[in-house]
Amino acid sequence: MEAVQNEKGDTTRGESTPGESTRGQISIHTENIFPIIKKFLYSDHEIFLRELVSNAVDATQKLRQLASFGEFSGELGDLKVTVSLNEEDKTITVSDNGIGMTADEIKKYINQIAFSGATEFLEKYKDKTGAGQADDKGQIIGHFGLGFYSAFMVAEKVEIVTKSFREEASGADHSGARWVCDGSTEFELSPADRAERGTDVILHIAPDSEEFLNKGRLRGILDKYARFLPVPIEFDGDVVNNTTPIWTKAPSDLTDEDYKTFYRELYPMSEEPLFWIHLNVDYPFNLTGILYFPRIKNEFRFQREKIQLYSRQVFITDEVKDVVPDFLMMLHGVIDSPDIPLNVSRSFLQADANVKKINGYITRKVADKLNDLFKADRKAFEEKFDDIGLFIKYGALSDEKFWEKAKSFVLLKNTEGAYYTFDEYREQYQVNQTDKNDTLVILYATDRRQQDAYVESARRRGYDVVLFDTVIDPHFINSIEYKLEKTTFKRVDADTLDKLIDKGLNNESVLSEDDRTKLKELFEQALESKSLTVSVEAQPTDELPVTITLPEFLRRMKDMSALAGEQSFYGNLPMNYNVVVNANHPLAGKILATESEDARKALIKQVYDLALLSQNMLSGADLTAFVRRTVETL
Ligand code: ADP
Repeated sequence: MEAVQNEKGDTTRGESTPGESTRGQISIHTENIFPIIKKFLYSDHEIFLRELVSNAVDATQKLRQLASFGEFSGELGDLKVTVSLNEEDKTITVSDNGIGMTADEIKKYINQIAFSGATEFLEKYKDKTGAGQADDKGQIIGHFGLGFYSAFMVAEKVEIVTKSFREEASGADHSGARWVCDGSTEFELSPADRAERGTDVILHIAPDSEEFLNKGRLRGILDKYARFLPVPIEFDGDVVNNTTPIWTKAPSDLTDEDYKTFYRELYPMSEEPLFWIHLNVDYPFNLTGILYFPRIKNEFRFQREKIQLYSRQVFITDEVKDVVPDFLMMLHGVIDSPDIPLNVSRSFLQADANVKKINGYITRKVADKLNDLFKADRKAFEEKFDDIGLFIKYGALSDEKFWEKAKSFVLLKNTEGAYYTFDEYREQYQVNQTDKNDTLVILYATDRRQQDAYVESARRRGYDVVLFDTVIDPHFINSIEYKLEKTTFKRVDADTLDKLIDKGLNNESVLSEDDRTKLKELFEQALESKSLTVSVEAQPTDELPVTITLPEFLRRMKDMSALAGEQSFYGNLPMNYNVVVNANHPLAGKILATESEDARKALIKQVYDLALLSQNMLSGADLTAFVRRTVETL
């Protein structure tokens, strides 16, 4: 037997015998519901218009449906919704010629459902109301069926004047119902004298919400939320929406121009998109939409335009963080799904199974589309790769499933402008670029100009060098090096070529071991820098007498921490350069043979500066001194 108690402990319902223990429910007082709704429902009060216009659209859609089932045989007429502003009366009215409501329906849908919804709301948020820290505030409305009540966020009094299509059908010229509520739990329901089927919701705007009594403001809100609603929305004499946005149409009925036009409609200031994907799924969830690939190049400007999320053509948000995988946030366009729980908190969204499925679906679709483009027109794909590469690489390193597909179409571009897939690259270069550990060494440059001397040396030996010069590349390299088998990446200046691709073959040294040790000491004395490590190696005679190298691992770590903008262990380490002296270069012998210490030091300094110069590391006073010295020797 159920008993209900209020806070005082009085039994208000159910039975209880004195002396017996009672079980009951705490009753919630709804008297104060409106102040609470006003404060906590949405941080954005403008949403009231979205809710009321959506209800009005639903009312017209329902009528259209009833007509299609044969349950409504009257004239549908031009189904539409009108929003009007009366600045003098301080009212905003949302009117529709949809199904309307009978007095009984008002009782059922407006009083009962809303009041029970409100109670539920209060119960759930009783700990939070008044505390002002409800982080769920903002998106709870539809969850409790309180959409209509969001009117009380801005209105001190709300009137509904309505006439059901049933009354219209029964032939009554004037009938209908009028409901008025001033924000208390009291309402007044009386007969109305309404000629037409449909509903007017009249908001008497509260003094603290008069900002909404403004044409520009209302138009702005409608542009945002009602832009693609499926029924014409009239405001100030104009229809403000496009009722059939292209994502609701079949791809086979659309031309490229349609997609481009729609893109311009969404983002008037943007460059033309590269291509797009039309999403369309109805199982296991419902989702339609169009995702556009923008031109990104090497900048992160793309964040300006965002993917817009809709639910049955009602704009919900452009914060799609949890619905769209992170790397797809670079795309533009729209997603429309009634299956995304839009009216609940973000933490709920993250845990939602549908959202996870949607994430997976979008990722798969995007990967498939890229694969199709790659297969259908390799050349066009290559041309777009500078734009989409950033995106593909981001996806590859952040999403394992995407990488599984992307590894067959992500491209490497070499210094000569040729593109290869990883498989093609391996096929082409493994003979020459596999080291003694059977690992393919992919040499790369991050700056074609700055690293030119190294690139040219490598190419002279028949090695290929790829370009990794975008912001994402350091991350990409780190990530895929683990995923690719027997493959390693080394920047061309990370070591001498014999060590970069160590085939286990030693070059004959012209100098004896003693001479090499001597040479190393001479360099150390002459250069006297602690952050330099000098070594002497037997290299081909056509290599430079001195090469500066930056060890791969440390450089990568420094690059990464610089990218992350952080002060870290690696970021703070001094860059440790290796100075490699070519024992087989004639100048090595010349240095050893020079008797005068000054002349020897000058020679060492000169070849060292030349090495710095070719790495673009000579500047300022050192460069001036170098130029002066060089001029003097001429
Ligand atoms: P929800 O829309 O989430 O069901 P609301 O509080 O917004 O909750 O609306 C409650 C109900 O009131 C609706 O489901 C609908 O039956 C009825 N209703 C609201 N607005 C209209 C309208 N303009 N025309 C007809 N019925 C309406």
